[in-house]
Amino acid sequence: MNQYDAIIVGARCGGAPLAMLLAKAGHRVLLVDRMAFGTDIMSTHYVKRSGANLLNQWGLLDAVRDAGTPAIDQLNFEIDDTRLSGNAPPCDDVGTDFTPRRIYLDKILVDAAIDAGAEVRDKFTITDLLFDDGRVIGIKGIGKGGKEVSEHAKIVVGADGARSFVGTSAGAEITVDAGTHTCGHYAYYSGMRESDSTASLRILTKERRFYITFPTNDDLDMVFLFWPTEEAQKVRANLDNAFTESLKLAPELEARVMSGTRESRISGTHVLPNFFRRAHGPGWALVGDAALHRDPITAQGITNAFTHAAILAEELDNALRLETSASNTINSSIDQAAAQYDQRQFQILKPMFDYTVHLAMLQALPDEMQQMLPMVAADANATSAFIGAFMGSVPLEQVFPPSLLNRFSADVERAQQENRNVA
Ligand SMILES: Cc1cc2nc3c(=O)[nH]c(=O)nc-3n(C[C@H](O)[C@H](O)[C@H](O)COP(=O)(O)OP(=O)(O)OC[C@H]3O[C@@H](n4cnc5c(N)ncnc54)[C@H](O)[C@@H]3O)c2cc1C
Repeated sequence: MNQYDAIIVGARCGGAPLAMLLAKAGHRVLLVDRMAFGTDIMSTHYVKRSGANLLNQWGLLDAVRDAGTPAIDQLNFEIDDTRLSGNAPPCDDVGTDFTPRRIYLDKILVDAAIDAGAEVRDKFTITDLLFDDGRVIGIKGIGKGGKEVSEHAKIVVGADGARSFVGTSAGAEITVDAGTHTCGHYAYYSGMRESDSTASLRILTKERRFYITFPTNDDLDMVFLFWPTEEAQKVRANLDNAFTESLKLAPELEARVMSGTRESRISGTHVLPNFFRRAHGPGWALVGDAALHRDPITAQGITNAFTHAAILAEELDNALRLETSASNTINSSIDQAAAQYDQRQFQILKPMFDYTVHLAMLQALPDEMQQMLPMVAADANATSAFIGAFMGSVPLEQVFPPSLLNRFSADVERAQQENRNVA
């Protein structure tokens, strides 16, 4: 029987780097996706320097730059009347964020997996997982010719997005469910650029609005707006109107947007859940949105997916190298590696998940945050650190006191409780 070391389902920010890393380490990898490689997906694409740092370590950041991707070294972070302006500290050697359109980024990632030696198949849809005595041993899927194919592997990894077919088929339960709090919609504009290296975030707590703008490839700028989920129905009923009305609440931004031309339709979704799913089990693991989905308000998803790929590849490497006649020994090493990965990713990513849920609630600022912001704004180093906490180059605990970190976690707890009550 032909057996791969790993089959990875989903060839974007989680799956493609994982395939690249495992293939580079000499493992036999099959990477599949039901979509054509290099196609767009519903997502904006602010890649924080913590994510760009991984691209750099993988030797892919030059390709991102070469695609004409802006490098962001100036962030304007406006929270009600407070304006924080500056650059975050670097993440190792990477001192800017990047904003590659997914048509460029995802192609770079898949090409890197191919160059590393992974076998890839696009337009290949997984229809079943194959089990042996409760253990996932492979996949069944339909490829380009419409023929059903089965493939076997030591581990099957679902990098197949928030709805994760692999996760649900393997029985992976949601372990943290903090609900949905916003709907987010975006469009591309030309002719409104402030500068090639500036991104802006605007939060209006009373009006419950959040705005993100940044320059991207092809001389386009991204305008990304958030509303509380309670308004989703109204927003979706008339997106043009919702955009216009929301921009009116932020006149400076409105003037900038109005000086340009909208070049795309308005895209987005009200399905923005915040959850962790168990990300390991016998013969399987999950990375990216399949394992952890959070509101895009903190632009964390791509970086999370890269982080997952890096940790899982590291954990699996030794286990996949084992050569012993006892397949039980190999299987238990692989499962232990996947469990270790799951534990590590949760520990590393949970604090930012909590901060994300807190922001997504679009609520009044906690008293401590209100007291803290003017002091941060008056001090360039504190401003840089505050922005760095958002961009992943400064640990949250270096910027926020324990009481605020507890508040972020308490918001997640509260949201979980409310979800349980509704269920
Ligand atoms: C509106 C919006 C804006 C966002 N903005 C940002 C941002 O600015 N910055 C940021 O970091 N993150 C952002 N995100 C989050 C980001 O898009 C995701 O975190 C990221 O795409 C996750 O990558 P992934 O590889 O885990 O999954 P995905 O990108 O969802 O890819 C999953 C792949 O799996 C494939 N697949 C699924 N099922 C099957 C199957 N049965 N068989 C074969 N293939 C399958 C799909 O075709 C797909 O290509 C945003 C998200 C949204 C919704």
